[in-house]
Amino acid sequence: MSQHYDLIAIGGGSGGLSVAERAARYGARCAVIEKGPLGGTCVNVGCVPKKVMWFGASIAHTLEDAEHYGFHLGETAFDWKALKTKRDNYVHGINDWYHTYLADSNIDEIVGEARFVDARTLEVDGQHYTADHIVVAPGGAPMLPETPGAGLGITSDGFFELESLPRRVAVVGSGYIAVELAGMLNALGSDVTMLLRREHLLRDFDAMLRENLMEEMLGDGIDILARTQVREVCGADDGTLVIECENGQRLEGFDELIWAIGRYPLSAGLALGKAGIEVDASGYIPTDKFQNTNVSGVYAIGDVTGQAQLTPVAIAAGRRLGDRLFGGMADRHLAYENIATVVFSHPPIGTVGLTESEARDQHGEAVKVYQTRFTAMYNALTERKQKTAMKLVTVGAQEKVVGCHVIGPGADEMLQGFAVAIRMGATKKDLDDTVAIHPTSAEELVTMR
Ligand SMILES: Cc1cc2nc3c(=O)[nH]c(=O)nc-3n(C[C@H](O)[C@H](O)[C@H](O)COP(=O)(O)OP(=O)(O)OC[C@H]3O[C@@H](n4cnc5c(N)ncnc54)[C@H](O)[C@@H]3O)c2cc1C
Repeated sequence: MSQHYDLIAIGGGSGGLSVAERAARYGARCAVIEKGPLGGTCVNVGCVPKKVMWFGASIAHTLEDAEHYGFHLGETAFDWKALKTKRDNYVHGINDWYHTYLADSNIDEIVGEARFVDARTLEVDGQHYTADHIVVAPGGAPMLPETPGAGLGITSDGFFELESLPRRVAVVGSGYIAVELAGMLNALGSDVTMLLRREHLLRDFDAMLRENLMEEMLGDGIDILARTQVREVCGADDGTLVIECENGQRLEGFDELIWAIGRYPLSAGLALGKAGIEVDASGYIPTDKFQNTNVSGVYAIGDVTGQAQLTPVAIAAGRRLGDRLFGGMADRHLAYENIATVVFSHPPIGTVGLTESEARDQHGEAVKVYQTRFTAMYNALTERKQKTAMKLVTVGAQEKVVGCHVIGPGADEMLQGFAVAIRMGATKKDLDDTVAIHPTSAEELVTMR
């Protein structure tokens, strides 16, 4: 005997929880199937614990700066274990909150691993569940390469399990997760080496951001080895790791190696073929703009679609899908343009819209760019001289702002409001006509010449 629902979400992460919550609000009978802790990647091994560590790392930087503001702190010590325990407790609190929240929202929680039986039926531990609408939101997981000895390293998941601060760490990768982990470990006291396959950090970001970040990370003492590909990882007699590189370099003495080389979608175990659901060559599930898969009544949202893999994107797609299916909003869907995002590097990056090179490819001569680079007032007194850099990318005679890119202290909190303005079609003149908030770094965005 199977249990029937209006909607079942596979995955109790950002996407699955959001679609079920929104559908339930309209009175739909919903269930969420989750094989791990509620909250998914973001809550357990992503945004949330990462941001806690970033706060810790930021405090470490502030302590360095403190004497330049007249504080004589003496010896300071950092207790990784204490921070991890508090962080884990915080995350468990969120997990618990979700259980209560699902119960309060009349959403059934089904514990276990879901797989398709057919396009309307799922199986979890031998029990069948049917639904009129099935939303596939299983997220993804970090990749390990085929490299010999790769298993001696860990991924971002393993980073959150570390019981102590590694003395010497290699971080392999150039994306935002690699940059964030390297920056946090460095600030907290590890000796960090980054290994990049190509030349740049954050390849898809505006060049101004990449270049400034590279300079800041090098300035903070992170060793960045560009064009360095790992050939093999081995364990040395003293328990440390040795990295042999394709270019003949041999790097020794690492306590940890963190692979941050990308993520893959968790679609393989879902028996999607039983329902006729198509995946692309990398296992991502293609959808149309309404999150419809190729099978009627089956939808995909979040990281498994391969689009803008961010928590608020999964949430927004889920909520809009709920509105469309049960709220009578037939055209409701998520537009994937102008999604603002932050890299929690040191200093942080905030970015929205087109990079300068994307804008030039699309709009050619019509592009006009404004940029500035300065030392923020906070750093006027400190020995550590972080630079803040900003770029506005505009298009056409009206100078419509199509991109806004900021690196510097406060960039993370600065960008959300500018993202609203850009989404509403702000021009450079609109920014210029906005009275500045003084003294801030953000005011430079409305005073740029
Ligand atoms: C280190 C790190 C840092 C990040 N930082 C940020 C950030 O700062 N800001 C940001 O916006 N995003 C960040 N992200 C990305 C963000 O976490 C993801 O984009 C988001 O969690 C995707 O949501 P989702 O619902 O698609 O998948 P998930 O949140 O991964 O949820 C999927 C859930 O499905 C479950 N599941 C999978 N298969 C099955 C199955 N067969 N049966 C039952 N359950 C199943 C999984 O256990 C998981 O709980 C970060 C990610 C990482 C790894």
